[in-house]
Amino acid sequence: QIPGFADSSIGRIVVSSLIISNYTLFTAYELWSGRSEKLNSRWPAVIVITLHGVVFPSQVPLTMVLPGDRIAATMTNGWIATLAIESLLYSIAAAFILLEMAKERTERVHKEAALIDPLTGVHNRRAIIEFAQQILARGVRPTKPMAIFMFDIDKFKSINDTYGHPVGDKVIKLLAATAKKTLRQTDVFGRLGGEEFAAFLGNTDEKGAVIVAERVRLAFIEAARVVDGIEIGATVSIGVTFTTNYKDAVEALLARADEALYEAKNAGRNRVMIRSEENRQGAAARDVPDLSAAAADPVTTH
Ligand code: GH3
Ligand code: MG
Ligand code: MG
Repeated sequence: QIPGFADSSIGRIVVSSLIISNYTLFTAYELWSGRSEKLNSRWPAVIVITLHGVVFPSQVPLTMVLPGDRIAATMTNGWIATLAIESLLYSIAAAFILLEMAKERTERVHKEAALIDPLTGVHNRRAIIEFAQQILARGVRPTKPMAIFMFDIDKFKSINDTYGHPVGDKVIKLLAATAKKTLRQTDVFGRLGGEEFAAFLGNTDEKGAVIVAERVRLAFIEAARVVDGIEIGATVSIGVTFTTNYKDAVEALLARADEALYEAKNAGRNRVMIRSEENRQGAAARDVPDLSAAAADPVTTH
């Protein structure tokens, strides 16, 4: 539509190159700015697309220095032919990489669904067992034992019965969030089912474990005092045990922590009970010393 422009091969090449390289670079930018979603194939995609966006306009100066019309130049000049092949290879590579990204994303969604509890967003039973097994299998002898926690909300059935299931769900979510905040990133933590949670804390001795467990217990009292404007006053009981023997099976450790948990229930709930490694043959769990002052320390990690 613009007189003179249609006849100018240089003008056409400049405009088309700028359009193509700009949208190519914007595509790379879009992929880069979504980087918070971790995908291995994202980086090859960003690199390949950026390279194309940078290389493509190089035909502008090349065309300008070449004499005569571009068709003849394409036939005679190796650089123009190379650029044409680059475009072709780019199209094929980009298609494969984007397919790989889509595949990786789908796989991740499925994997996440298999390991994450949908209500609380923390790991589910399968993930807890898998990750705890991985730590035990690494078999690195730490200087301190591994602590195993079992959490169970007290009188939860009556919370459900009195305030309804949706409020019960909120209380479950509160325990997940409270424990997650207090535990370390490297600790294995998740929901076993219902209102029961478990945690595996590497390199944690009895004193450290009691401080963490008491911190979760006290923080949960605060968090679940009032839910949706209703005074709920939910509490949690926690059973704790230890292992230095990394050959122990995850299920056996959970069972031992569960025994300590039931001691806590029998002793009146809303407390932490310890079953030491030596007492694995059914000795009564010991009530923990009063560490509420230490546990009230505002530091949230240990
Ligand atoms: P205790 O102090 O001895 O632990 O008593 P409890 O009532 O907490 O013990 P129990 O294990 O009998 O109660 C668990 C209840 O949790 C029963 C079940 O209906 C409820 N529950 C299980 N899963 C869910 C859930 O996803 N949401 C809600 N709201 N309730 C659940
Ligand atoms: Mg229960
Ligand atoms: Mg319970």
